[in-house]
Amino acid sequence: MAIITRAIREQFNPAKPSECVGQIELITTDETKAVVVAAHASFENWKNTSPVARGEILRVTADLLEQNIDIVAETASREMGKTKNEMIGEVKRGASILRYFAQEGMRATGEVLPSASETKILYSMRVPLGVVAAITPWNFPVAIPLWKIAPALVYGNTVVWKPSIEAALTGKLIGELFEQAGMPKNVLNIVQGRGSSVGQVLLEAPEVKAITFTGSNGVGQNILNTAGHTNKKIQLELGGKNAAIILADADLNIAAKLTIEGAMKQTGQRCTATSRVYVEEAVYEKVLEQLIVEAQKIEVGVTMGPVSSKGQYDNILAAIEKAKTDGAQLVFGGGPTEGQSEGYFIDPTIFTNVTHDMAIAHEEVFGPVLAVIKVKDYEEALQLSNDSQFGLSASIYTSNIQKAFDFINRSEVGLVQVNDETGGAEPQAPFGGVKNSSTGAREQGQAAKEFFTTMKTVTINTK
Ligand code: NDP
Repeated sequence: MAIITRAIREQFNPAKPSECVGQIELITTDETKAVVVAAHASFENWKNTSPVARGEILRVTADLLEQNIDIVAETASREMGKTKNEMIGEVKRGASILRYFAQEGMRATGEVLPSASETKILYSMRVPLGVVAAITPWNFPVAIPLWKIAPALVYGNTVVWKPSIEAALTGKLIGELFEQAGMPKNVLNIVQGRGSSVGQVLLEAPEVKAITFTGSNGVGQNILNTAGHTNKKIQLELGGKNAAIILADADLNIAAKLTIEGAMKQTGQRCTATSRVYVEEAVYEKVLEQLIVEAQKIEVGVTMGPVSSKGQYDNILAAIEKAKTDGAQLVFGGGPTEGQSEGYFIDPTIFTNVTHDMAIAHEEVFGPVLAVIKVKDYEEALQLSNDSQFGLSASIYTSNIQKAFDFINRSEVGLVQVNDETGGAEPQAPFGGVKNSSTGAREQGQAAKEFFTTMKTVTINTK
């Protein structure tokens, strides 16, 4: 019998890095290969299980998730730093995602089509792909994995899921809930380990037919380089540099409140976070004042958690220093939070005097940092907001319906918000971006079907 020695990883609390919150055993690359083979072997059975029964397991998992909301929220909060309240919101959202996709097991997966021949019956049906690899980030440790796993499973695929190592304990809990709900063996498989080792195995395994990934552009590019030339389906959700536009005719108090929420919620670590705001010059001073008022209301350590890790902490502080060196003016925050001797806490940070060529205007920070940019009018704001390598989400605050519709038409993003912040997604609506923010089919809603199934067209000659 071969003896396998596995590495152990300890997780530390980003709010209190001396506190170890748990340990996780990491799988080897050989074991990962074996997991993929097992997932492949279980595909036929799962594919032939009634979709209604598949959906029922998701529904039971949703119930279990709600029953265990406290432990899941607490574990994730201590592991990756999001506040417990934010995590409770996310776990509830996870349950809605499971319930939405549970219902998919009862919905049509094809259509009957008219044939040119009187003797033929013609119809299409959606069929699963096989083994799907889901590779997920730490920032939504429950919602993002579930919005990949749930549709993959309900449409009849088996799944190998690699959670972010920063959210490994949460991943383990989610896996246990699926197991308790009655998920058959080897249908949903979790591989705990580093992306560069076990993740890479998933990209290369011939049994993996599709890869759904959310994370950084660098890793997304590696996935394309490794698997892009193969026959695997690839879906990438990547970074963003989401803009908000505040016009003079907007409700300025609401616009400022939502812009700060958009920028600072979850400590700015959302791919849909607002990271630049263009303000019409007529109301610039007033809006800036109000943005600062809203930022002052944030209680770091209470309403805003730490950033997720030392790596994140260092990167965000470096981006703040670079903005200062580039000539942006710091008007709020700008560094580690005073009085927090331990923990990766950074103050909500606002910069003005930002020019379009500065890194702070076009590179993703993934932290609680907002660039405020004065513009002459709507046209200039639109042109600058569209001049980005990213195209995930954008907001406009205005009471002018023509401008709102013009923005809906001309904004080069996948998610447009009018009088609302740039973040936010609902399970029934397609989610994703354009340009360097996304590759492949949209996630969630009915759009999820496009990625997790393929079509079979059937012709029956009745005579
Ligand atoms: P990473 O890209 O670093 O990691 C994402 C996942 O990929 C992790 O599970 C990671 O593993 C894994 N991975 C790393 N290297 C490889 C590899 N060579 N092969 C396969 N898998 C690999 O992103 P973060 O987790 O740091 O998340 C932050 C980034 O994600 C931000 O840039 C953000 O914009 C983006 N993001 C995008 C979202 C969207 O919907 N568009 C939503 C949320 C985040 P490991 O555990 O080792 O880190």
